[in-house]
Amino acid sequence: MSINFRLPGPTPLPPPVLAAMQREMIPHRGPAFKSLFRDLLRLSREVHRTEGDVLVWPGTGSAGWEAAIVNLLSPGDPVLATVCGDFGDRFARVGTAFGLDVRRLDVPWGQAIDPPDLAEALQLHPDVKAVFLTHNETSTGITNPLPALARLVREHGALVVVDAVSSAGAIPLETDAWGLDFVLSGSQKAWMCPPGLMITAVGERSWEAYGQSRFPRFFWDIGAARQSASQGMTPTTPPLTLLYAYHAALEMILSEGIEQVWARHHALGDLTRDGIRALDLELFADPACASDTLTAFRPPPGVSSRELLDVLRRDHNVEAQGGQAHLTDAIVRIGHMGWAHEPELRAALAALGNSVRTLAPERYSSLPASVL
Ligand code: PLP
Repeated sequence: MSINFRLPGPTPLPPPVLAAMQREMIPHRGPAFKSLFRDLLRLSREVHRTEGDVLVWPGTGSAGWEAAIVNLLSPGDPVLATVCGDFGDRFARVGTAFGLDVRRLDVPWGQAIDPPDLAEALQLHPDVKAVFLTHNETSTGITNPLPALARLVREHGALVVVDAVSSAGAIPLETDAWGLDFVLSGSQKAWMCPPGLMITAVGERSWEAYGQSRFPRFFWDIGAARQSASQGMTPTTPPLTLLYAYHAALEMILSEGIEQVWARHHALGDLTRDGIRALDLELFADPACASDTLTAFRPPPGVSSRELLDVLRRDHNVEAQGGQAHLTDAIVRIGHMGWAHEPELRAALAALGNSVRTLAPERYSSLPASVL
């Protein structure tokens, strides 16, 4: 039985992506690479819905936080970090590590950042130069109302810096139309690639900020990357195999149609949430902002996440994930992003039904077999 791989990243690799990675090396300063890389950047701009720059790096999502900071800001700059989960918290802590003056807007985990709360925080901190937003908080399974939040930040005159690690390529993301200045993501989520690439969309206002920024930088220098990209190259040796993979994945996304991809994820989100409710399990995220790329829920009373994950793996070959930080053993997360379709999700939900019945037989004895 093959593994039903339902982590919220890394995610399963589709056959065309796996096939692309079989390709031999090519000279990274030669014509074949230049044509591949130019095409990859064009396709990525299309998926990001931007006429601005997209730059691709060896790295993971976390590198995107650092790249945003060293290119757009200067030591001591005041910024507002919006925190509704572990990844927002980490982004804030990276800011502190770099010597930014980080102000925080914290909301309870499982909820989204509410636009009126952001408006109030901006009034309280009128001097912030940038606002860090997590589009989709992977640690709790919520999606923030990005268009409304970005509008407020823009009106305030601060930079809109967006962690789109678990949203890009799955949930509507309109870089230009929503005025997003810097969007960062990692290849191992809805991009359907292995971990190892970091992708940034860089808008016009980010280039203005780059001109003022006083952080030292070398590897993450967006100016150097843009200069190389204009020649169809990268400043350092490119991770060729991952770029083959990303190019193949972008072609798949665009041949399905990005709006169709968004709709597929929305349907999978609904399917998973309905299935979990039918099992009488408690969804963790506020339903008003539940994510379409992963679903978090509490195990049955008296059962830990670890026990449930073990049974899912041992008896059903389903790989899911627990929570993060204080939620490690309190929630389970099921990923449904990237190369994800209804049959695997239905199979995972059936496995979940059987697992909870194994672990909490009294509670589940009355549930109809059709649900389990
Ligand atoms: N931001 C979000 C929303 C994430 O989900 C993750 C990883 O899961 C990261 C940032 C960090 O990415 P990475 O682990 O690729 O460095």
